Amino acid sequence: MWQTGHQHQHRNQPPDPYTPTSGSPDLSVNEYDLTLDYDVGPNRLKGQASLTGTVRTGVEQLILDLDRQLRVDEVLLWSDGSPAAVRSFRHRRGKLEVTPNRVLDAGAAFRLSIRYRGRPRAGNGLWGDIGWEELTDGVLVAGQPTGAPSWFPCNDVPADKASYRLSVTVESGYRVTCNGRLVSREDRGGRETWVYEQPEPMSTYLATVQIGRYEYLDLPGDTVPQSLVSPPSLVSRAQSALTRQDAMMNLFTDRFGPYPFGRYTVVVADDGLEIPLEAQSLSVFGRNHLGSGAASLVAHELAHQWFGNSVTAANWRDIWLHEGFATYAEWIWAEAADGAGSDARAEEDLAWLQQQRQDLQLADPGPESMFDERVYRRGALALHVLRRSAGDGAFFGLLQEWTQKYRHSCAGTRDFLDLADKVYAAAGISVSGLLEPWLFESAVPAVRFSA
Ligand SMILES: [Zn+2]
Repeated sequence: MWQTGHQHQHRNQPPDPYTPTSGSPDLSVNEYDLTLDYDVGPNRLKGQASLTGTVRTGVEQLILDLDRQLRVDEVLLWSDGSPAAVRSFRHRRGKLEVTPNRVLDAGAAFRLSIRYRGRPRAGNGLWGDIGWEELTDGVLVAGQPTGAPSWFPCNDVPADKASYRLSVTVESGYRVTCNGRLVSREDRGGRETWVYEQPEPMSTYLATVQIGRYEYLDLPGDTVPQSLVSPPSLVSRAQSALTRQDAMMNLFTDRFGPYPFGRYTVVVADDGLEIPLEAQSLSVFGRNHLGSGAASLVAHELAHQWFGNSVTAANWRDIWLHEGFATYAEWIWAEAADGAGSDARAEEDLAWLQQQRQDLQLADPGPESMFDERVYRRGALALHVLRRSAGDGAFFGLLQEWTQKYRHSCAGTRDFLDLADKVYAAAGISVSGLLEPWLFESAVPAVRFSA
């Protein structure tokens, strides 16, 4: 199911046209085991990455993404369990090309061990600073969409999900937070090693490391363990911003289906951030996100665990499957918490959308408009149209089938329409017909929400 993005692929085509230089269609990684040693002050990283996977087609080279500011010292290869000689490796223009001294056949298992070092920094491109970013006193990693190679060698496409083990050693006094569960923490002579495991398959862009002089607190969690990682000075503000988070967790579990991961962590950075950021099993907020209005940000980021992190867009053009859904989750929370009527909100957003340039196609907005606000709001409106057509039972039933069917995998817009058509057939509604103008045309469809 997660191979959706590869179905129509040819060897000379990039895995994703929005990120044409990222990823290799020839290989599939099952596990990343990353051992990082990091000095916060000078921003110096030493890494050892072990990648286990298989090759999809016979290949003469294994090609990975790794940013140029990191230098590769050594590459070792095993194929089908035995050591294989690496004839050469070359690292240029963000690609690490490893040439074994024989062709690897389709289906061959491989393990690559890569030793590298350097001073990682966020890549600056269409989407601003993404990747490994130095904070005033620590590190934040926000990988969406192409920031992962700023800190580890990878097959950087969302559709190639893998499990992770992350070991990070830093000076004592800092707290390291990564995806998944903390499995060990060991202090040795002024340096501390933090080991995390993320067993559920994860897209590269969702892998993260957060480092800061943070405090750790358990948060109330009825069914899902939740925690807060925050500078001591922001703990009480963060706690008040998150007072309703567990109620959101219960509401979303009821509407969207079971929470897809083992736990949920909120990290608050001591710096201001442009927007909060989602990673698998955790979200990152800036110190500026804790004021009034925090609830909708908290709801939005939490909803990404279902829509984006567990069910991930097969291609970046399908980003509305993340942002439209997470935005709609804000509406669902507002209904439950404040009794806010979603029809009034829909009318407002519709009026807003009608005032914008009508040159954006929701299901293919173009790489420069992936995070355009119109994707968020039009996506939420499309979902509201769908919900209004047959009521809450059909709509939330569909969302639950969606998160169940594509749990921990990838799906595209067509997959959503196909499933929706199936679920809504009982009500005699063609979802494709209803949603196509919202998804594939740029003009805003005429619709009225008020009764
Ligand atoms: Zn979002």
